[in-house]
Amino acid sequence: KGMAVLSRLESAMDSWISAQECESSSTTMTEWASFSKAQLDALRLLAIDWALAHGLVVRPTADKQPFSHNASVTHAPFALFPSPFPKAAFDLAVQLQPVYNELIHTMSQDAGFLAEIMESLTLVDDFMSSLYSIYKQVQEEGPAQTISLGLHRCDYLLHVPLGSTSTPIPQQVEFNTIASSFGALSSITGDLHRYLFKMEGLEGFDRLPKNETIKALAGGIAQAHQVYGSKNAIVTVIVQPNERNVFDQRWLEYTLLESHGIRSVRKTLLEVSQRATLGNDRTLFIDNHEISVIYFRAGYGPGDYPSSKEWNARLLMEQSKAIKCPTVAYQLVGAKKVQQVLAMPGALERFVDPKTAELCRTTFAGLYSLDTTPEGQAAYKMALENPDGFVMKPQREGGGNNVYGQDIVSILSTLSERERSAYILMDLIRTPPQRNIMVREGELIEGEVISELGVYGIYLSDGKTVYANKTGGHLLRTKAQESKEGGVAAGFAVIDSPLLL
Ligand code: ADP
Ligand code: MG
Ligand code: MG
Repeated sequence: KGMAVLSRLESAMDSWISAQECESSSTTMTEWASFSKAQLDALRLLAIDWALAHGLVVRPTADKQPFSHNASVTHAPFALFPSPFPKAAFDLAVQLQPVYNELIHTMSQDAGFLAEIMESLTLVDDFMSSLYSIYKQVQEEGPAQTISLGLHRCDYLLHVPLGSTSTPIPQQVEFNTIASSFGALSSITGDLHRYLFKMEGLEGFDRLPKNETIKALAGGIAQAHQVYGSKNAIVTVIVQPNERNVFDQRWLEYTLLESHGIRSVRKTLLEVSQRATLGNDRTLFIDNHEISVIYFRAGYGPGDYPSSKEWNARLLMEQSKAIKCPTVAYQLVGAKKVQQVLAMPGALERFVDPKTAELCRTTFAGLYSLDTTPEGQAAYKMALENPDGFVMKPQREGGGNNVYGQDIVSILSTLSERERSAYILMDLIRTPPQRNIMVREGELIEGEVISELGVYGIYLSDGKTVYANKTGGHLLRTKAQESKEGGVAAGFAVIDSPLLL
């Protein structure tokens, strides 16, 4: 089955390439290139109004907020046109998602594996070390809840090796196990593109895939709530105090209420530290409400834990009977170090059958440890000799943390041999650029862009019974080719949707 998928992938990629090379075979891609400035201005107006009317919005930065109580919004940054994306690569990523859901869960249940991963990291990364302490403490006490909920997202870029004209293949950038964002706004961006296609009579409407992320993600939380099984309990969403991407989260909260009758409350980690208590059976109460599911949209980085209060809140929640999305174990497994270890020969076979392992590996870019082993030393030399061929990554999330090019050389020169273990090295993925127009704070930015596909996964299991294992829609983020990082919230990318070719 794996090989069949691969050959289908190759042939479909070939047709994508020829469509790119031969303009006439794909009117959709060039149709808008001939639009006049007046036509683009008119389209911008349509798009911005539609976005504002349909909740494709974010809060403006504090300096641009004209009203009190955060009373105004701006459109989320979006691509004016959907970006062409090869259907075969899209289908492969969608097919792989349940495999990743299962893999992430299996790794999270393997205390020995986590210990191996954390052995070197705890010495050099205080944040990972604090998380791991919580994991170990709760393992020793005995967890009050065996069920965990995963709302993951695997991210891919298309890759063509330097100097080659071969078929681009999807390569995995990373997998996210905590606070994977933009599911809701991604779904709405797909609807925006459908609207613009209808209004303009553009070709290719049927190549804009359905994207029901809101339903899928809220459905995952609802299912966890039902399995928890307490009628009066509510869900809590853990948020950052100054979140701008509020509406992406609100859409899930509204859907929980409207489609499932489940109430939810938003709390910061600090508020949890002030208002949460554990009952005798470790039931979690916040403001005297029993909590069924904790959905983390914060807590993924050191900045979310300015004091011991936030860490205490995280520990209390992990100790509780509430279902965590994610558990600390899921968060640890989402570390870039784990991705690198999985790329070592034979490593995947520890968790999945050989055929599945082979299929997963078709999407792996080269990944290398920078630790004190002979392999780590070799990768260190390789990075110094050819820094433009790599990305160096710390164990961080949320964008803006990676090191590229000459900065790799400068940072490496400041690190001791042991401190290098906090990073991994990854081959640079080289994505062929396309043209599109990005819309940010009302401005049109036309140029060469590259797109990163994310696929959401929903997994609910108690370790024995798997209640849910499915794909939950997708996200396409598009950034200027020159920009190395890709985060939307970090200000690098816009939300897009794929036009499947
Ligand atoms: P984060 O968890 O902060 O999102 P990522 O690993 O996704 O970290 O890296 C952030 C961004 O950097 C990605 O969205 C992508 O644009 C870029 N990037 C990451 N890895 C690579 C790579 N191997 N090649 C090219 N670009 C990369
Ligand atoms: Mg990430
Ligand atoms: Mg990322």
